[in-house]
Amino acid sequence: MRQLTTLLEEYPDANLLAGGTDLVLQVKQNHHINTVIYIASIKVLQFIKIHGNVLSIGATVTYHECSHILSKQYPELAKLLDRFGSQQIRHQGTVVGNIANASPVGDMLPVLMVLNAQLTLRQACGSRQISVADFFLDYKVSDLQQGEFIQSVEIPMAESGYQLKVYKVSKRIEDDISAVLAAFYLKVENKYVKDVYIAFGGMAAKPMRAIRCEEALRNQPWSKETVAVAAEQLVYDYSPLSDVRATACYRMKVAKNLLWKCFIETNDPALLTRVTDYA
Ligand SMILES: Cc1cc2nc3c(=O)[nH]c(=O)nc-3n(C[C@H](O)[C@H](O)[C@H](O)COP(=O)(O)OP(=O)(O)OC[C@H]3O[C@@H](n4cnc5c(N)ncnc54)[C@H](O)[C@@H]3O)c2cc1C
Repeated sequence: MRQLTTLLEEYPDANLLAGGTDLVLQVKQNHHINTVIYIASIKVLQFIKIHGNVLSIGATVTYHECSHILSKQYPELAKLLDRFGSQQIRHQGTVVGNIANASPVGDMLPVLMVLNAQLTLRQACGSRQISVADFFLDYKVSDLQQGEFIQSVEIPMAESGYQLKVYKVSKRIEDDISAVLAAFYLKVENKYVKDVYIAFGGMAAKPMRAIRCEEALRNQPWSKETVAVAAEQLVYDYSPLSDVRATACYRMKVAKNLLWKCFIETNDPALLTRVTDYA
């Protein structure tokens, strides 16, 4: 790792190459890539550790390598991870690469935001921690400084009483980019919302928490009336764009409907809400 920090001091603009499933696409799109530092073979970055109630995933761990432990902690994630790219992509692409890429449609980013995951960023002069929620600044712009890299992501283990719901909306089940991805992490007690975290991908230039919507739900009855009010707050949380995947109008409608789906599935788990296990 010291070699990496030294190299980054010498080449602060270098592109790190982990799985290459994002970076190499830039070559295809004729972006000029200057210096590349290959990190996938750095052994000290290849770890999955549990410290107390935190799961720590090193920078070179692929989706294939950590999907079992992630799905064990959060069974809801199994379906999402099954749909992440394809088998080839899951064997090659890393969780940290997904974060570093800072795409508005990176599938794990809203999930990591609602779980309050933290990143450990390192450079020659030391390390610092930042929450995933604060890491994204704008479209494909993150808080990563020159000469700095992501060493690991720290994900809190599931808390008792909290439920995670994750919905990916895309045109194909597998190997497709999300039009919208919704993540909900909530604690409902005696039909009241005790705590709630909501984040969406595909609704803004970066993955973002739905703060207004959360406020409308927190400490309120988990009821149709509350959900109807909270869904309308999404209009103030996001101004989605239209692109080849979906129109702004469709995205907003889907986002509201996914809140309803979360309500229905947590309120009455026996109700059938999915056409397949994955949708
Ligand atoms: C066919 C295909 C399907 C895909 N499907 C999905 C999908 O369903 N969902 C989804 O979210 N994504 C998808 N992707 C995108 C991609 O696979 C993921 O974002 C993946 O997790 C990227 O990881 P990587 O290791 O390949 O990153 P790389 O391509 O190696 O790196 C990505 C970016 O992060 C930087 N970087 C990498 N590691 C670090 C580090 N430790 N510190 C700082 N910067 C770093 C690189 O310099 C680069 O800018 C798909 C891509 C392809 C080609």
